Amino acid sequence: MHHRLDALYGSGEVEAITRMVMDEVLHYSPVDTVLRAQNDAPDFFDAKLAGIISRLEKYEPIQHILGVCTFHGHRFTVTPATLVPRPETEQLVDLVIDENRDSEDLRVMDVGTGSGCIAISLARALKFAQVSAIDISDEALRVARDNAQALKARVDFRQADVLTMPLWPARSLDIVVSNPPYVCQSERAQMERNVLDYEPAAALFVPDDDPLVFYRSIVRQAAHALDTGGRVYFEVNRRFANEVAHLLSSHGFINATVHLDTFGNARFVTAHICQD
Ligand code: GLN
Repeated sequence: MHHRLDALYGSGEVEAITRMVMDEVLHYSPVDTVLRAQNDAPDFFDAKLAGIISRLEKYEPIQHILGVCTFHGHRFTVTPATLVPRPETEQLVDLVIDENRDSEDLRVMDVGTGSGCIAISLARALKFAQVSAIDISDEALRVARDNAQALKARVDFRQADVLTMPLWPARSLDIVVSNPPYVCQSERAQMERNVLDYEPAAALFVPDDDPLVFYRSIVRQAAHALDTGGRVYFEVNRRFANEVAHLLSSHGFINATVHLDTFGNARFVTAHICQD
């Protein structure tokens, strides 16, 4: 795969793609791939690989080509209707789990669930959690429901637009988590073709003149619906982490904290509701 794709993707990325292809198509682990390097791959593999390479040359994301993606140790179906789950978002899930692993029966809401990766990973990891999730896209919700069923996670998925929906019931939640659209239209120029040409724009972009549009609605809902000690966990655009923290502080939240991702970017904001 290297000679044709290195110029387009760089050799490190091609390594990662190769591991995914070997795993998904041949069920080879990285060790199997080395051990069986001298053996001929099964007959079907060459044709399959040629098809995959020609789609990669058109910048189609490997997760769309294979139809799957690993997130937080689970195998999720992904389609063009949902964002491909990102590694940063696994860190968002870890933040929630780290702070709540000893609690039981938590009521969790995931806003803009997409493939369901956050909601399902939390439903699997937290003890007896009651997880709900909303998304504006019916197509995304179909993918999310299929994922929940395949992964035996119980999540209540509903179609809703967080910008216009009625207020959630008071004190009905313990955790609100979201990775809403946060990329400004003006940032498009720095994005890769595999994102711009193949991923759903509605899951990514916000207007330059109102980049916090989703956070404002979610914070308003969360301030009303969180019970005493309830918490918010957001993934954010690194340019606006401080603004999101400020938004939370000005709506009655305490301990608003910015967390870095593994690349050192301000990527998450968490806070507690101060209510008694
Ligand atoms: N991190 C994603 C990207 O850079 C954006 C996710 C989002 O808008 N919520 O493509």
